[in-house]
Amino acid sequence: MQREDWQIINNDLGAIGASGEKHMNSIMGLSQADCKGCYKCIRGCPVKSLSCRDEQVKVMDGECIYCGRCLLICPQNAKYIRSDVQKVKDAIAAGEKVYASLDRSCLAAFPHANMGQMIAALRKIGFVHAELATLGAAQVTHEYDRLALDWKAPNFITTACPSVYLLVQRHYPELVSQLAPVVSFFSAHARIMKQIYGSRARVVSFGSCISAEYDAQDAENGKSIFASLTFADLVEWFHEAGVQPEKLESIPVSGAKKGYFSRPGGIIHNLSTETRHQWECVALDGMNRCTEVLDSLKKGDISGYLLELSACAGGCLGGPILRMLNVPFLVAKNAVVTGMNHTMEGPPSLTEGVEAGVKRTFRPLAPHRRQVSEEEIRTVLSQMGKTTKAQELNCGSCGYDTCREKALAVIRGKADVRMCMPYMRELAETMSATVVENIPTGVLILDEKLRIEHINPAAISLLRIKTEVKGKSIGSVLPNNDFYEAFSTGKNVVHHK
Ligand code: SF4
Ligand code: SF4
Ligand code: SF4
Repeated sequence: MQREDWQIINNDLGAIGASGEKHMNSIMGLSQADCKGCYKCIRGCPVKSLSCRDEQVKVMDGECIYCGRCLLICPQNAKYIRSDVQKVKDAIAAGEKVYASLDRSCLAAFPHANMGQMIAALRKIGFVHAELATLGAAQVTHEYDRLALDWKAPNFITTACPSVYLLVQRHYPELVSQLAPVVSFFSAHARIMKQIYGSRARVVSFGSCISAEYDAQDAENGKSIFASLTFADLVEWFHEAGVQPEKLESIPVSGAKKGYFSRPGGIIHNLSTETRHQWECVALDGMNRCTEVLDSLKKGDISGYLLELSACAGGCLGGPILRMLNVPFLVAKNAVVTGMNHTMEGPPSLTEGVEAGVKRTFRPLAPHRRQVSEEEIRTVLSQMGKTTKAQELNCGSCGYDTCREKALAVIRGKADVRMCMPYMRELAETMSATVVENIPTGVLILDEKLRIEHINPAAISLLRIKTEVKGKSIGSVLPNNDFYEAFSTGKNVVHHK
């Protein structure tokens, strides 16, 4: 496919978003040629951040949380993720000092390797050095401990998942004050690495999610990450370079025996006993559970909880990239456990124990949504042929759970009235009925026993019919031999007199 066939999705909010959010380069794209307009991605999107106008689906950068669900469920593989592999290769080729920050879940994509072999493989393709992001995670958890002791908001939200930052900022802006203002593990690790290896060090993170790329671009993180690549990028890069990590000699790894943070409960497990006693600590994974608990927080139904949220069920091992690579969850988990068991703990790296500032701020980033009146909704519903409650089928085939949600999406410029299948079918039926009723040609519609189901005005006039013929045999108005022949043989009798 030619590059021009791919449409880079632009930020629908323009260079500066309605909420003041700065424009970021888009992360996901869509091949218009491949999209068949089935709306499956809209149905699957947890925050309905896809728009469809004139049969063109677009990811709305100002609303998307980069959970990757639409990529996984598109039956046409019409969506793609932007990759910074070339940028990293260019930096290496230019002689820049490029470092890698790895989460141990990378072993799920390389099930026969251990972490020491992964690091050796990264050196082989040009990285100066690679480290476990655990060193950053430990510091983030330490900051959570510090903040949790004197936290004033009713609940304390922690996460290793940039999709959760975006979910809160863009879709639950009133809860931003309950989100602990701490950078991601990768950002923390990148800050530490730059502190030790120099401000010109280029730190590249590797992960199983798409939102990490957003996190890397987020100015609030101090732009410490040069590029965020996925495990799929790494699989391809090693393949191209003919590097097989499992065949290389393993290197002892600093932090190999430290905690595993990017699994559900990983943060809570590594918090101090004091913090865990002070709060009711609960880890929730999967988008449904996250939105359910955030809805409860929004209503003020719960307080006193320290929550650890992961957008993907199973945490990073259930991330979209590993699912795209078809790594089943338990296989992924076993690969990580086995790989880490075979990894030798190395001497402390230069970055071990180094303190870096890991604070950040979160701002509400919800796009401005004006109030919509009941009258506006009713107007759009009637444009979709829904003038009574009974006509609101709420069938979901447009991608929205209810007809009202769909009407709201139309008003907000995200959807088109024509996306309603039952309405379009009704419209098509009405249009064909209008044509049949008004053409000058006689039309009779028969059932399987050749009884008249419908006769149009032209046929009534041509055949000079004076009485009701509906339900009667065709033989009552026309010689029926040709009809029986056509019906029993399936042959065309159009030229018979
Ligand atoms: S899932 Fe979305 S992107 Fe994929 S073909 Fe259907 S409408 Fe197009
Ligand atoms: S990545 Fe997630 S939030 Fe963004 S459009 Fe796709 S399904 Fe929706
Ligand atoms: S009836 Fe139409 S508008 Fe309502 S949910 Fe179904 S497809 Fe959507």
